[in-house]
Amino acid sequence: MPTNMQEHKDKQYNDNLLYQLQSIFGFLDNTARQAYDPTDLVWSYKDYDGKPTNSGIQMDAQEFVGRFFDKVEESLKDTSQKYLIEDIFKGYSASQLICPSCGFNKTTIENWTTLQVEVDGMSNMHESLRKQLRGSIISEYNCQGCKKSVDATKRTLLTKTPNVIIVHLHACSSAWRRSPTLRSTQAMNSLNFWTSTPTASKRT
Ligand SMILES: [Zn+2]
Repeated sequence: MPTNMQEHKDKQYNDNLLYQLQSIFGFLDNTARQAYDPTDLVWSYKDYDGKPTNSGIQMDAQEFVGRFFDKVEESLKDTSQKYLIEDIFKGYSASQLICPSCGFNKTTIENWTTLQVEVDGMSNMHESLRKQLRGSIISEYNCQGCKKSVDATKRTLLTKTPNVIIVHLHACSSAWRRSPTLRSTQAMNSLNFWTSTPTASKRT
């Protein structure tokens, strides 16, 4: 692993995110302690200006994890582990617009590392996911199939879930926090939340 030792306030830091990540997991794997001092990681994880991250500023969690994965993927791209993030965290969904008149179906495949789930007015995650599956009506949609203005259905299907799903909750209400959470792909399977029509884009 490449090292990039840098000095900051009379201390030597290894300015390599992968090295710092390995240090964390290595430490936690071999210690009885339940905490790790992440100072070196924070220093090696740079902000948009290339400066060490200011840990006193709160970030949007979804933005953080997206950027963090981008950085890790960038670090891994020339190694045998270049698909690590994709293999563990990347899922695919299909956004569909369906015409009720002619059945025309416009499908767009998207990939994600965090699954966004609306929770306002929902009693649990199952309900929220089912709502996504049912979709909503888009009025006066100009159908490319029959060339008519129709009330089309817009819905999102999960075409491939990752081994580890990171769920991003929108506007988490107190009622929702009391509900059981969905933690695994196996539980997702039980929701019948799948489609066989769209296929996720193949790796190149
Ligand atoms: Zn149509």
